[in-house]
Amino acid sequence: MDFELNEDQKMIQETIRKFAKERIAPVAAENDKKARFPMDLFRELAGLGFMGTPIPVEYGGAGFDYLSHALVAEEIGRVDSSLRGTYSVQVSLVELPLYHFGTEDQKKKYLPKLTSGEWIGCFGLTEPGAGSDPVGMTATAKEEGGHYILNGQKTWITNAGIADLAIVYAKTQPDAGAQGITAFLVERGTEGYSTRDIHDKLGLRASNTGEIFLENCRVPKENILGEKNKGFKVALSTLDFGRFTVAAGCVGLAQGCLDASKDYARTRVQFGKPIASFQLVQQMIADMVVDCEAGRLLVYRVADMKNKGLPNTRETSIAKYFCSEMVNRVAYKAIQVHGGYGFSGEYNVERFYRDARINTLYEGTSQIQQLIIGAYELGIRAFD
Ligand SMILES: Cc1cc2nc3c(=O)[nH]c(=O)nc-3n(C[C@H](O)[C@H](O)[C@H](O)COP(=O)(O)OP(=O)(O)OC[C@H]3O[C@@H](n4cnc5c(N)ncnc54)[C@H](O)[C@@H]3O)c2cc1C
Repeated sequence: MDFELNEDQKMIQETIRKFAKERIAPVAAENDKKARFPMDLFRELAGLGFMGTPIPVEYGGAGFDYLSHALVAEEIGRVDSSLRGTYSVQVSLVELPLYHFGTEDQKKKYLPKLTSGEWIGCFGLTEPGAGSDPVGMTATAKEEGGHYILNGQKTWITNAGIADLAIVYAKTQPDAGAQGITAFLVERGTEGYSTRDIHDKLGLRASNTGEIFLENCRVPKENILGEKNKGFKVALSTLDFGRFTVAAGCVGLAQGCLDASKDYARTRVQFGKPIASFQLVQQMIADMVVDCEAGRLLVYRVADMKNKGLPNTRETSIAKYFCSEMVNRVAYKAIQVHGGYGFSGEYNVERFYRDARINTLYEGTSQIQQLIIGAYELGIRAFD
């Protein structure tokens, strides 16, 4: 095992860390307060090659490996979870499934637009009545000539209101369960496709979240992603990419909590001494450090497995489960170290604490991750 980053990875980490510190961090709190998506920063990140980190150069990507992808998610997540979410969706939930399941025509048509930041993508799986159990979806797609007619509703979709391209899942054979789901590429502007924003979220306020409405939405047959009735496989594979960057983002956010807590503990004086000198404060800091480091190793292990092309669903779920719970523990302690001031929007840890909460919910709740891990250990699937 080699725990050293290679020269490319070090360069990527340095570049994205500098950009996050100098360009993203100074405006993150204001964007959160105003619930404003930073389109300028999204485009700047794309200009640096970071909206296509692991996508091959021939499709407009940067051609780096999965550890580099994790490093980018980690460093953005360290300062702004909203923007990290957009990065994860764009690259992990849209570009990577397109790259792995798309036809050559689809890849050539869509990937350069997405990696360059000209287009934004979204991933539409969840419905009002189908979250943890996506097979319970009711969206349908009926074949009609050279088209499919899509009807249904998707909800809680990151980027829905700003996306130019959606990967939408619908049932092409409603009585066939998981074997009757198909993934479709749907462009904004397609007749029968519309979106509506969701407001007043607990966290990720600078990230766009919304609903997608499909009302007799006509999608050409060539826009099936993967094969007809094989969409569930596309969705599960997509989630292995997405959960990986969620976990990496959690490590970054936990590190952001730790950075802020160390700074505060060194400067805040009580009983005539910096609070950093009290053993119980050091205990909180030590627990945060151990949590961050453990999460980071789990994420980097998955990156290594992905780089080697090894199956990694189990390890990805372990990383996602641990890191999403871990970042909530760490954010809780960050507020504790800041005392009453941590409760105020004046300090970043207040935003970090709110942003941490989503991670145990989306891309499979902690309970769903536990059931995936349990099934690997026991050989019995709780879902069936
Ligand atoms: C901000 C935000 C962004 C999102 N972005 C996207 C996106 O881009 N694309 C997308 O498709 N979706 C997205 N989602 C949806 C997200 O993935 C779902 O919310 C999530 O999968 C959980 O589904 P649910 O909310 O319907 O909860 P439910 O499935 O109703 O779960 C409720 C509770 O029941 C538990 N539960 C459910 N089934 C079981 C079981 N079998 N055993 C034990 N416990 C169980 C859950 O763990 C949870 O605690 C987003 C959600 C949010 C809040």
